[in-house]
Amino acid sequence: MNEQLIKQIEKLKAQRGAVILAHNYQPGEIQDLADFTGDSLGLSIQASETDADVIVFCGVRFMAETAAILSPEKTVLLPEKSAGCPMADMINAEQLRRLKKENPDALVVCYVNSTAEVKAESDYCCTSANAVEVVQSLPEDKRILFVPDQHLGQFAAEKTGRKLVLWPGYCTTHVLITTDDVRSAREKYPDAIVMAHPECNEPVKELSDELLSTGQMLKFAAKNRGKRFIIATENGIIHTLKKQNPESEFFPVTERAICPNMKKISLDKIISSLQEMQFKIKVPESISIKAKKALDKMVEILPEK
Ligand code: SF4
Repeated sequence: MNEQLIKQIEKLKAQRGAVILAHNYQPGEIQDLADFTGDSLGLSIQASETDADVIVFCGVRFMAETAAILSPEKTVLLPEKSAGCPMADMINAEQLRRLKKENPDALVVCYVNSTAEVKAESDYCCTSANAVEVVQSLPEDKRILFVPDQHLGQFAAEKTGRKLVLWPGYCTTHVLITTDDVRSAREKYPDAIVMAHPECNEPVKELSDELLSTGQMLKFAAKNRGKRFIIATENGIIHTLKKQNPESEFFPVTERAICPNMKKISLDKIISSLQEMQFKIKVPESISIKAKKALDKMVEILPEK
């Protein structure tokens, strides 16, 4: 059944001159058929560099918006229009404008998991892969507002020694991971390395061995072949980790770490998306020009790892 659907997708893709980008948290079958998989930073770079006319973005809305801003001449499709990110919706442009008014000389760093309107109000964007390097690159005498993820902000603050004003946003999936989950996984697999995403809460991060974005987890696993790993992030990444490292073992820290929005994309929806050219993601020029300045800085400042 899936094979037929995949063939149909291949055919439609060729007809439309489309490329399929899939985030590391997508269902395994979608990651397998994608032309490129990756984390937000990797996919943003792919979106800005591809020659294809159409980008089918298998992820959530802010990712498709980012692709549309970086490649305004391309058609960007999100196969399921309700695939959003609760964290991105935890701050809006009006709230950010108010925060800026209260801190008139501050610079704003916003996590890419944010709406286009919020990016347009920000000076810099970052991903979980380069938040530390972006914060580090800013003048030391400047106050920094970090939105919307308090946990990534806290991680960047600790790594850089900078004091950040943190917006109290969070990822509704990563906060489901608890210290009890980490402790019991360690008891079960005492020799395993715990890799956690910086979106996890601070007590979970303290119990972990490595704090990495999903792209960095893939690189770290490749450098440590044959080992066992406990994974504290959205479980979709385990599919690719296993595929790329068949000699290693990967265990989810909890089965609860599933992002329902990421799982809204299906093979059928990709077919409808390519057939109907839906759902087109467009960002008004007045917003995209400003948001692109912040995103360009994100793509320029590459992570050290
Ligand atoms: S995993 Fe968290 S941050 Fe990522 S899309 Fe889902 S809710 Fe948003």
